[in-house]
This record gives sequence, structure tokens and C-alpha cells, in this order.
Amino acid sequence: MVDIYNYEDLLKRAREKVIPVVHSGERFKLPEADIIIEGKNTIFRNFLDFCKVMDRDPQHFSKFLVRELGTAGIIQGERLIFKGKVSLADIKDRINQYIKTYVLCYECGSPDTILKKEDRIEILICKACGATRPVTAHVEIKIQEEKIEEGKVYEVEIIDISRDGDGIAKKGSYTIYVPKAKKGQKLKVKIEKIKKNIAFATIVQ
Ligand SMILES: [Zn+2]
Repeated sequence: MVDIYNYEDLLKRAREKVIPVVHSGERFKLPEADIIIEGKNTIFRNFLDFCKVMDRDPQHFSKFLVRELGTAGIIQGERLIFKGKVSLADIKDRINQYIKTYVLCYECGSPDTILKKEDRIEILICKACGATRPVTAHVEIKIQEEKIEEGKVYEVEIIDISRDGDGIAKKGSYTIYVPKAKKGQKLKVKIEKIKKNIAFATIVQ
């Protein structure tokens, strides 16, 4: 199973240094989903926090969740109340899916994006790299094509520098850290270690 933007992983990346938000001082800090079952309903207690962090319309996000979870739901203040008992794992899965589809730039992975609707087509505009793409359901396929493996050499472009001074490159859904690399460099790197969607590489001479 290839879980591209696994929730735990996203959370980890967001909490650490990892998602580079290139032209914005803001960081992408996803809260932990606070979900409880109360009687016959499932309550996503910090629903609105997610909308704020992702900068997405609560109606848009709730409609997606409700549709994907095959239930009914209503926004009540900060909370989204689902009808029936919905598993936490399922909700987290759908949150991931939403972020992947409607929030993260397909090109650079930045969460600093705008979702626009033009002629019924939803368009994701990246404030970091300028990429503009219609939102499609095929994102996952596109990303899954690019798998990287430990020990192999790839050509990458350093798109940013981490707080620790390492170069950051992207390949498919992977964020690759390359020590001693400079921004803008195109390099051959050898993947030393992969942990979920994060890889550590060294420059190949
Ligand atoms: Zn971008």
C-alpha cells in the first residue's frame, strides 16, 4: 500500500521543518484531529481549526468529508457532526485525501495554495511556485508513478533550504534532504535512507 500523504506523516512533516513554504512566513501546522463519538453521532471537534490551517471553506471541506464517508453531517460552531459512528481512521484517511487533492501544490508540495473555481472547474494555484492546475482525481496516480529507492541515484533540483541548512528537493511525493546542496542546483544524488515520504540523500560526484 502506498499511502502518499499519510496523516501521521503529514503531521510530523508539518511539525518539524519539512514542508517548505517558500514565499510565505507562515507554516503549515495541522492540528491533531479531535474526534469523539457522542451517542449516535461522531463529532469532529476541531473541524474549524483544520479549515483555518488549510485556508479552505468549511462548506467545501465538510461536503467532501460527508460525501467521501457516505454519511450526513452538519457544521455546528467549531465542530462538524457526522451522523452515525464513523471510524477515526476513516476520517483521517479522508482528511489526508482532501489535503492531497485540494491543498498541497502538485508540483512543489507547498500548502500555500489558493483554491479557485472557474467555469465549474476547481483550480489550485500555488503561491510558492506559481503552479496552476485544475483539481483532478488523478493526483494519486501521478504521484505514485515516481517511486524512489534506497541506494539509487536520481537527478533532482534543490528547490529550498531547510532550517538546518540542507538542500530540499522533491520527487513525486518525496521530500529529499541533501546536505551541502545549494538552492537552484541540479544534482545527481544517491538516496541513503527513506522514511515514509522523507528521504535523505548525498551528492554524487
Ligand atoms: Zn507549488
